[in-house]
Amino acid sequence: MVSTPVIGVFALQGDVREHHRILSAHGAETVDVRRPQELLAVDGLVIPGGESTTMIKLAATFELLEPLRKRIAAGMPVFGTCAGMILLADRIRDGAPGQETVGGIDMTVRRNAFGRQVDSFEADVEFADLDGAFHAVFIRAPWVESVGPSCQVLARVASGPALGRIVAVRQGHLLATAFHPELTGDDRVHRYFVELTTASSA
Ligand code: GLN
Repeated sequence: MVSTPVIGVFALQGDVREHHRILSAHGAETVDVRRPQELLAVDGLVIPGGESTTMIKLAATFELLEPLRKRIAAGMPVFGTCAGMILLADRIRDGAPGQETVGGIDMTVRRNAFGRQVDSFEADVEFADLDGAFHAVFIRAPWVESVGPSCQVLARVASGPALGRIVAVRQGHLLATAFHPELTGDDRVHRYFVELTTASSA
């Protein structure tokens, strides 16, 4: 078993620094990923929040799309937050015209689902596999509209108008949250991902 997994942070656009800090605090070695060679050298990958339309275009420009799809198909653990969740979705709603995804998780994700007027908000969500509720920060967040049979629902909104909406999922080695766990000071989702990466690179 590898004791120190190398986890890349997709660094084309978006909030990268906090992910590095938290992943390192939980025993991972972290590197920025911007090039195909860098992608090939990591045991796991975090795709941060940002703007999914920009990120997918940059991923294509930097020739990362196909290598990323191949590594996902080969079992590399990936954790997508917010825009990263959108990139991991097999299907999206309210995408920009022709917006592609990387795919991997059998789910339909709606972009900016909470409404454009609701720029950001915080809410507690019940998170399966973690001990107790998780305080979640949503920023122009998507939600998961539906999941296929192999996709496990990990968290739903617990109150308010979006009650019951799916906001975290896992499909084997792929993990995605609609919210930003790097912004809350609660490291449990990152720790969960470091453990998943360590276990799967064993
Ligand atoms: N609304 C953004 C998108 O569609 C995601 C926002 C975020 O990552 N905080 O890509």
